[in-house]
Amino acid sequence: MFKINDIHTHHDYNDTNISYLKNLRTADILSGNYLSELKTAELNHNKYISVGIHPWDLSDYKEIIEDKNFFNNKLLAPIIQIIKHPKCLAIGECGLDKCINVDIDAQMTIFKKQILLSIEYNKSLIIHAVKSFNQIIELHKEYNPTQEWIIHGFRSNSVVAKQLTNHGIKLSFNIKAKNDTKLGEIIKMLGENNIYFETDDDDVI
Ligand SMILES: [Zn+2]
Repeated sequence: MFKINDIHTHHDYNDTNISYLKNLRTADILSGNYLSELKTAELNHNKYISVGIHPWDLSDYKEIIEDKNFFNNKLLAPIIQIIKHPKCLAIGECGLDKCINVDIDAQMTIFKKQILLSIEYNKSLIIHAVKSFNQIIELHKEYNPTQEWIIHGFRSNSVVAKQLTNHGIKLSFNIKAKNDTKLGEIIKMLGENNIYFETDDDDVI
């Protein structure tokens, strides 16, 4: 992905000098809101989109988990439509979260499907990882993708940061992490050109 100022946000920017990826989740898909988001992305050169099935949203996609014919599932049709759109640069957040009460096998199934979509449509992957860095690294070895894998909201330690980046996985930090002593050191160690920044629910960049 080329350098984007904010790779994960839920807000729009008035400042057209700031390039950003607006993240769409289940609620945007099911409500049909994604159509207007795509339209405004078409009209604004600095606005891009990411879309994915977050592990927290899997209950909304129960039908998909149980559907062997995943790629033809009607709930996925809008997601594929968005992924194919030139203003969509990434799939995500998707990933593995071991701190939620959602079956980890189901999470893995849906995550792997999104890895395949990332490869098929050549889009980056924005990953939500909670207590699952080792599995993410194993999956990266297994699929050996040419697409970027980016850990969303990285706030672990320098050892983990090195492990991930040594395997070619990129990290994304909340913009406020620059002011954090521990995370600030990791950012310096990796160099700002090798990482991404995001705001998530914050307004400020
Ligand atoms: Zn978010």
